Amino acid sequence: MENNLNLEFEKVYGSTAEYHFFCPGRVNLIGEHIDYNGGKVLPCAISLGTHLLVRKNNDGLFRFRSLNFSEKADIILAKGYTKQGKDWFNYPLGVINFFLENNELQGLDLLFYGNLPTGSGLSSSASIEVLTAFAIDQIFNLGTNKLDLVKIAKRAENEFIGVNCGIMDQFAVAFGEKDKALELNCDTVEYTAVPFKLGDYLLAIINTNKPRKLADSKYNERFTECRTALAELQKELKIEHLCDLNSAMLETNLDLIKNFTVAKRAKHVVSENERVQESVKAMANNDLETFGKLMYGSHDSLKNLYEVTGVELDTVVDYCKKNPNVLGARMTGAGFGGCAIALVKANKYDQFAEELDKYYLEKVGYRANIFKSGAEEGVRKV
Ligand code: ADP
Ligand code: MG
Repeated sequence: MENNLNLEFEKVYGSTAEYHFFCPGRVNLIGEHIDYNGGKVLPCAISLGTHLLVRKNNDGLFRFRSLNFSEKADIILAKGYTKQGKDWFNYPLGVINFFLENNELQGLDLLFYGNLPTGSGLSSSASIEVLTAFAIDQIFNLGTNKLDLVKIAKRAENEFIGVNCGIMDQFAVAFGEKDKALELNCDTVEYTAVPFKLGDYLLAIINTNKPRKLADSKYNERFTECRTALAELQKELKIEHLCDLNSAMLETNLDLIKNFTVAKRAKHVVSENERVQESVKAMANNDLETFGKLMYGSHDSLKNLYEVTGVELDTVVDYCKKNPNVLGARMTGAGFGGCAIALVKANKYDQFAEELDKYYLEKVGYRANIFKSGAEEGVRKV
């Protein structure tokens, strides 16, 4: 499909596209459920993503088409849009809406195509939002800086779509760099690009195809548990976030936390924060083996202490542990479903994918989808 996009545009709109842009999806490599505890995340942009072919029109219309969805929309250029039903075009429309607050735009014929699974935690929504923001900025020469594009995209998701996400997704798909991970503080948006060279390995992304139904309610529950742990520790300790503690300090003060489950949650958060720091060091030393072990450590902690995995994600990681061509694997994202990632020897990938596919089908009863990725550059002109 990627090679025929120009042809598809012609079929849909009857003439050639003027511009072609691409925005990747993202995975968080390690650092799960610590962004709301003062810890840093470590995402990278991936090989899969969303394309946009576009041309200006003189009809005063935004025409929205996607090769992934059958719904179409032709929307008259105006200010102050609101969300129209639940259709996909609200994502780009939300972005355009915020640009129109301060800029004069012209009508556009837009055609989207993505090879990211949607609703699986690889952030196809951030991909289409940042893609639209980048495209509008380029087409109309607005000179917006990249962080402001990220903020407009996030605003579309928060205020227009109505999903209360943080900034990691939009940031990662915009600022991604080839062979780099982004060590990001989601509160301050300070970040460091960390070398992440895969060498003979690749990043496999395994979509469990398990809907993340529980993710939202459990997220709120974990959030509250972390706040409880923090409040109890603060009675004795001068800390602002759980991630201000190291494991030894937490261990010494663990009896301040009354509830056993809440104490387990705190242990995950503090140890996961340390694993991020160790991962950054390992990556800087080109030490994928150590990073792989940290990935397994992260998964085990999310499974046993934070309790956000489930049989599907655990099945993927269990298989990976048995395969000598895999250095590490873990769930990524909020958990309960969505995707796992694994570091797999590149020349053994086909065998890995075939075996995992069978193993997963047998244990879970339906199939997973497996993709190859690297750590890639963020949003760009094609
Ligand atoms: P996730 O971000 O985890 O993939 P979301 O539910 O947040 O899942 O966002 C998915 C939605 O984003 C899709 O249902 C659709 O509305 C929109 N979207 C993503 N990619 C495309 C695309 N290629 N074409 C049209 N809409 C898309
Ligand atoms: Mg999303």
